[in-house]
Order: sequence, then C-alpha cells, then structure tokens
Amino acid sequence: MAGKKLAVSWVTFACCEDSSIIFVELLNQHFFEWKEKIEFHYCRMLKNKNSSFDGSDVTFVEGAIATKEDEDELRMIREKSKKIVAIGSCACTGLPSAQRNQFDESTKREIMLIVERFGHLEKVHPVKDIVKVDYQVPGCPMDEKIFLDTLNKCFAEFGIH
Ligand code: SF4
Repeated sequence: MAGKKLAVSWVTFACCEDSSIIFVELLNQHFFEWKEKIEFHYCRMLKNKNSSFDGSDVTFVEGAIATKEDEDELRMIREKSKKIVAIGSCACTGLPSAQRNQFDESTKREIMLIVERFGHLEKVHPVKDIVKVDYQVPGCPMDEKIFLDTLNKCFAEFGIH
C-alpha cells in the first residue's frame, strides 16, 4: 500500500543506552529514507511528548530487566507489539547489565537491602527470559549491520517499500 509506514517504538530498560546513541547516528545517515518508511510511536530519545505505550508493529527493546515494574511493563509492551527485537547484549543475554547475578554470596548479601527496597528482581534477566523475542541484535553496543538487516527484514515482512 502506497504511503504505508512501519510503526516503530524504542524502549530502554536497565543499561547504559549506547545502542540508542548508535541508533541516532544511523538516523543521521538514513533520515531521508526512513522518514518515508517509519512512523515513530513511543521513542523518548526522539520525542519529548510520548503518550503511554500504545502499540507498534516493531518495538526495539534495549537493556536488561532488573525490576518487577520493568517486568510488568515489558509484558504489556509484548502484548501491544507485533514484533519484539532485543537490542544489544544486555537485552539479548543480560550482560553486562546483569553483573550482579555473578556476585559471590557475601556480595549478594551486601546488596540485598537495596535489591529488596527498590523492588529489584532476585536476578537481572535478558528480554527473552520474560517474553517471546522475534529477533535479536547482539553486540555491546549493538552491531549496526545486524540492526540494519533486521530493520530491512521488518520492512519486507510488513510490506513497506
Ligand atoms: S549492551 Fe553494552 S552498550 Fe548496550 S546497554 Fe548494555 S552495556 Fe551498554
């Protein structure tokens, strides 16, 4: 269909957000192509006014899941997204954001107060531990080529030309 655009969202959980920076750099290079093909829904790095997450064709999820609140939000995002793409090593494997999973028992005891007080999960999880993931873009930060290949695959799947 002429003029049809891919509804895209980008959400970030526990991480350093370097893949967001890579995405903005890619946007600099591909802006004129993507503005004809992408409609940004929820994307806090590009839009200062975001309504609550209202669904999208493809949601890119960056970062690991460290709290119960994040877990619930991710489940809601999964329900409202046709495809979920895990972005970067933290989202794909948990690490390096999940370093505390590997603490020894004495260090774990030391941080337990903070973990409990702030509603953190016992372990930090990659996205696929919580919801079904359709595609993964590994790398720390994300691999640009795999990201572009994945986005192009999504354009093709949703009939965006
Ligand atoms: S994968 Fe690496 S660059 Fe991306 S958020 Fe995690 S630590 Fe940062």
